[in-house]
Amino acid sequence: MRELWGMLPDELTALMQTWGEPAYRGRQLFKDLHKGLDFADMTVLSKPLRDRLRGQMPVPPVTVLEEHASASDGTVKLLYGLSDRNCVEGVLMRYHYGVTLCVSTQVGCAMGCRFCASTLNGCVRSLTAAEMVGQVLCANRLLRPENGRISRLVLMGSGEPLQNYDEVLRFIRLVTHPDGLNLGARRISLSTCGLPDMIRRLAGEGLELTLSLSLHAPDDATRQTIMPIARRYTIQETLDACEAYYRATGRRLIIEYALIDGVNASQEDALKLSRLLRGRNCHVNVIALNSVRERQLYGASEAQIARFMECLTANGVSVTRRRTLGDDIEGACGQLRKKHLEEHGQ
Ligand code: SAH
Repeated sequence: MRELWGMLPDELTALMQTWGEPAYRGRQLFKDLHKGLDFADMTVLSKPLRDRLRGQMPVPPVTVLEEHASASDGTVKLLYGLSDRNCVEGVLMRYHYGVTLCVSTQVGCAMGCRFCASTLNGCVRSLTAAEMVGQVLCANRLLRPENGRISRLVLMGSGEPLQNYDEVLRFIRLVTHPDGLNLGARRISLSTCGLPDMIRRLAGEGLELTLSLSLHAPDDATRQTIMPIARRYTIQETLDACEAYYRATGRRLIIEYALIDGVNASQEDALKLSRLLRGRNCHVNVIALNSVRERQLYGASEAQIARFMECLTANGVSVTRRRTLGDDIEGACGQLRKKHLEEHGQ
């Protein structure tokens, strides 16, 4: 049976009916599950029903194994444990407009980007929708003492969300449901290394998600040296799919570009990127690469980043620097899980 936290209200209603309960129990249960209540605290439900639910789902799909708070900016890095002893990570980031949670969609990742720690041991498995909901519920529990809650999500943790399409879409339908967490689709960013067919499919879902493309290179040859996916699809094919997404949803594309010293950060690269993106409905987010010593890839210097951004701006491309948060707590994708695996084996 699918985990309760991954079931939509209609599905819970059907389940309750097969258990001989009235239909409205489904909606009550959905609301309480997404408030993050333990079964014992679901007092709108009868005691026998709560016991039966607990018997069915004895453990929550996700628990917090480790919690590292940054002393400098309030960022919290989380290591979550799953019921099969795998683990994934997340980051909670505080901005003036609210708290954003970075959500993982797979244990590890199969895409093989050279600069990314999540992919070093490949993809172990995809997460279920309930395991993604569980990450948000854990983060909300953490924020409860300060009366806070997660208001934005970025699907930028480990994994390629478009390779786990059905469960990711289900997750989005669950967290945007008005009886549940009720997050606005516009406040959810889906980040992908760029799978054109899947981007086109997403365009047809009628959801106003923000799409982020991890581009990281101004031309195919450079992209192929750091991202294996670039050998399957050209930048042009990928940007065409993103354009179709924009036409269907009206959501401006975000381009993610991590500046890597000696790879993609020169003035010539900046000019090429400007030519590629000028006139498109997109915004570039630059970030200094979190250095990956195992691969001898290092972030560009502050001066290089400033020059790169000036070039884009001068050429009419909209660009901002993404704030680097949680530098002191292994904030980058996959770093904390990697460290945990090295220290604990499993
Ligand atoms: N698979 C998806 C989402 C997960 S990665 C994707 O590729 O977009 C989330 C973002 O972090 C991507 O833009 C990815 O390229 C970036 N990233 C991964 N490793 C990084 C590193 N060491 N430094 C900076 N950004 C990194």
